Amino acid sequence: MPDRTTRSVVIIGAGPVGCALATLLRRQGVAVDVYERGGESSGGSGHSFNLTLTSRGLDCLPRSVKRRLYLQGAVLTKRIIHHRDGAISTQPYGTDDAHHLVSIPRGVLQDTLRDQALRAGARIHYEHACVDVDTARPAVLLRDRDGATGWVEADLVVGCDGANSSVREAIATAHPTELWVTRDHIAHGHAEITMDYADADPTGMHLWPRGDHFLQAQPNRDRTFTTSLFKPVEGESRERHFAELPSPDAVSDYCATEFPDVVDRMAEVEHDLTDRRPGRLRIISCAPYHHRRAVLVGDAAHAVVPFFGQGVNCSFEDTAALAALLARSRFASAAGDPVDVTLAEYSAVRVRAGHALADLSLRNLEELSEQVDSSTFLARRALERRLHELHPDLFTPLYQLVAFSTTSYDTAQRVHQEFSTALDRVCAGRDLRLERDAIIAEFAERHSRDRFTLPRRPPPRPARHRSRLGD
Ligand SMILES: Cc1cc2nc3c(=O)[nH]c(=O)nc-3n(C[C@H](O)[C@H](O)[C@H](O)COP(=O)(O)OP(=O)(O)OC[C@H]3O[C@@H](n4cnc5c(N)ncnc54)[C@H](O)[C@@H]3O)c2cc1C
Repeated sequence: MPDRTTRSVVIIGAGPVGCALATLLRRQGVAVDVYERGGESSGGSGHSFNLTLTSRGLDCLPRSVKRRLYLQGAVLTKRIIHHRDGAISTQPYGTDDAHHLVSIPRGVLQDTLRDQALRAGARIHYEHACVDVDTARPAVLLRDRDGATGWVEADLVVGCDGANSSVREAIATAHPTELWVTRDHIAHGHAEITMDYADADPTGMHLWPRGDHFLQAQPNRDRTFTTSLFKPVEGESRERHFAELPSPDAVSDYCATEFPDVVDRMAEVEHDLTDRRPGRLRIISCAPYHHRRAVLVGDAAHAVVPFFGQGVNCSFEDTAALAALLARSRFASAAGDPVDVTLAEYSAVRVRAGHALADLSLRNLEELSEQVDSSTFLARRALERRLHELHPDLFTPLYQLVAFSTTSYDTAQRVHQEFSTALDRVCAGRDLRLERDAIIAEFAERHSRDRFTLPRRPPPRPARHRSRLGD
């Protein structure tokens, strides 16, 4: 067996994903050096918005980290929909207590994971930007704050450097036929709005669905809310702004019309939406996620739109999958179980998951901005919830499969498509409210041998990994 203490990994990027992976690898006795382009206090990617974590991602983190996140985050059990007519309705995220989101400020998540990585013995080198990668040696070319450059070698190079990954771009440039990349913007952008909403229900994600756009207020532990507008953006130049909102007057008219119940609580909205350009939302896909002895993890591999709130959850699942596979291969480089075979295995599994999540996330935009306000959609969701309550072995709702299970995203997507087609057939031409019980009985009878649900035994990957490593 190789001497594990001399095995070394270089991670590029000390964002949440780089730090989470550093901790997992340190616990296997691997020497970990993390190189981060920003300074120690720059807070990673610089985004300020909240992230929602679900059991899929949380269960891939060490128990102590999870505990700290629960202490600092807000637990959300439902969506709270503010309809156009002033009515308010709620939609639970799932069917039991474990089905909730933990809403956490990005900076808190970042600091918690960085502290954990340092405590586990990872070395983090700030103000070192990766500018090139040699996947065969493997080695990275780093540039420090004074502009000096130098190569650093390791047994494995991991790109955790986010959506604009220089590791991914270096590989794709040097080996264009061996790693393909697609980059897209969607029409929607996002902007943070300051909103005083302290008296609102802090246990739900507040949504104002308004056709092609929506407002979202996400509670924090201290009863403040992080509020964002998602809306199509116009113009590619410096003057880029939300469609139809080029001026402060246009903004105040828009908010008074679309969000009359909260417009008085947005004291700075004209400034929020006109002084700063909206952030664009990107989808970056690539395959495979590795080349020789370099591998991509997190947003470096898959940047998805945030409408399922799963980007970082998927990324933590990447880290658990990679660490577990490396632990199994023990970094052996001789014949038998070489790192590149391990990386190919990681790639095969995670590319399918990443591409499915990109698709699921884009489709959820329609749900958040439009469908949650539609009576037909709500009737269908109520029918699905009842079907799950009565026949949990037959059907699990898509949201539950995606957010709260370990079923791979691609399996969840396939199973849900099959289920939707089957349910559409039974529902055709019927009133979903009046005939709900009859539809459910007929569906259960027709599909008594099918399973549109969780596997009986969840895949052992993250759980086995956790128990091996302890906390
Ligand atoms: C508006 C919005 C809302 C979101 N909401 C959610 C949510 O609710 N739930 C969820 O699960 N996900 C959400 N996401 C996705 C989530 O933000 C990402 O999945 C997550 O940040 C990925 O982490 P990362 O560490 O891979 O990348 P990043 O957070 O981008 O970190 C990358 C790090 O690498 C460093 N770096 C970059 N280039 C170099 C270089 N050349 N050399 C050295 N260092 C470098 C950067 O400085 C940074 O520290 C959201 C995304 C957006 C845009």
